[in-house]
Amino acid sequence: MVSYGERMKVAVIGAGLTGLTAAYNLKDYANVKVYEANEVGGLLASFCPNYCIEKFYHHCFKWDKELILLLKDLNLLSKLFWKTVKVGFAVNGKIYSLSNIIEIIKYPYLTLKEKAKLAFFTLKSKKRKDYEKYDEVYAIDGLKIEVGDSLLEKFFLPLLNAKFGENAQKISYAWLLARVSIRSNRNLKGEKIGYLRGGFKQLIDKLSEDLEIVEEFAEIKKFGKWQVNGEDFDAVVYTAPLDNLNFLQIRKIKYQSTVCALLALKRSLSDVYWVNSIGTPFGAIIEHTNFAPLKDYGEHLVYLVTYCSQQSEIFRMSENRIRDIFMNSLRKFGICEKDLNWIRIFKAKYSGPVYEVGFAKNITPYKISDGFYIAGMTSKPNYPERSMNGSIKAGREVAEVLLKDYQLIIK
Ligand SMILES: Cc1cc2nc3c(=O)[nH]c(=O)nc-3n(C[C@H](O)[C@H](O)[C@H](O)COP(=O)(O)OP(=O)(O)OC[C@H]3O[C@@H](n4cnc5c(N)ncnc54)[C@H](O)[C@@H]3O)c2cc1C
Repeated sequence: MVSYGERMKVAVIGAGLTGLTAAYNLKDYANVKVYEANEVGGLLASFCPNYCIEKFYHHCFKWDKELILLLKDLNLLSKLFWKTVKVGFAVNGKIYSLSNIIEIIKYPYLTLKEKAKLAFFTLKSKKRKDYEKYDEVYAIDGLKIEVGDSLLEKFFLPLLNAKFGENAQKISYAWLLARVSIRSNRNLKGEKIGYLRGGFKQLIDKLSEDLEIVEEFAEIKKFGKWQVNGEDFDAVVYTAPLDNLNFLQIRKIKYQSTVCALLALKRSLSDVYWVNSIGTPFGAIIEHTNFAPLKDYGEHLVYLVTYCSQQSEIFRMSENRIRDIFMNSLRKFGICEKDLNWIRIFKAKYSGPVYEVGFAKNITPYKISDGFYIAGMTSKPNYPERSMNGSIKAGREVAEVLLKDYQLIIK
């Protein structure tokens, strides 16, 4: 027990968005120490040449209320801007914007009937709020019934393969419906998304202010009290991947990994922000400077992203080899070495859960046992898609549960 008059000691494991938000919400009530094994910011860490840019593309949506509230609290809201961007498909080295009706009608790889089905499915998904009930249904089975075989083969399977690699066939329909609903936030000109001008690093920096962050891999033990790297704590808030928690009886979950190239180019690739790319070693091309102002960077920033498993060949390849393979593939789009200012390869082993059928059972409660709490990608606010907003909500909620348990706040 924490004795009267003493501030309780809480260890937060992981300085990603969940851990930092949890610590931010706890720090006025307890002595908080944050442990970070790798880099503060986690998946939202940035690379800073002479400006800062996220290692992995990031944008937000109008309904990301927790993120917006936190930005307001940290006096960063004035930097958040919204823009309608183009989205599209790349086939055989050609990028097709599919951002308005005319462009969609002109797209040569789907018949008119398939396009009508797709439009109907998208409109229906936009209104759908009941996707959780499809958790036990395979996405491919749900799609077969809803849109038919040809649209599944030509449109949805390439997207599922790009996003989940060898796990594509196992993905739940709930995830797909939620995802379509999110990505159908469009008007006639394209999709409206948000970004923090100057980069989300500002959010990470502001959250980290006044926090004690120790750059160490945390090893947790229980000897009466909880111990982290030999130091006693009254409670632990764990926000890192669940793989390392074998000492607790927690369901195993499968994580997917990401390989992401960030390129600074002398010229633009196209005017589309988000391109789903078929037949390339990367599944998406995201041209950040078709969204954020080019003048903030002075060069065109493009992400090439592939989602894979940690055992996959691409994940295990050296950065130089990945660079060569990606650059070679970009030649199809007319981009070669002379167009390149620089390129960096970033990998994330735990970039998100694989949303397999039945994933809802893997959602972890915040309280696991006395003094041990878990929050992050497997918490309820991050289902059925993990996001900055979901991680912030999970961080805030786990802090509230802990504070209530120890009667440090009464709500
Ligand atoms: C490619 C990609 C693109 C994305 N794009 C978007 C987007 O556009 N919009 C959006 O809203 N979201 C996006 N996200 C999701 C968003 O980045 C995440 O939901 C969020 O950053 C996760 O934060 P987290 O704190 O839960 O996890 P993490 O960021 O993974 O943080 C966990 C931290 O724990 C640390 N750690 C692990 N083990 C230990 C240990 N034993 N001791 C100490 N520290 C440890 C890790 O190093 C890590 O820093 C994207 C993610 C990826 C990978």
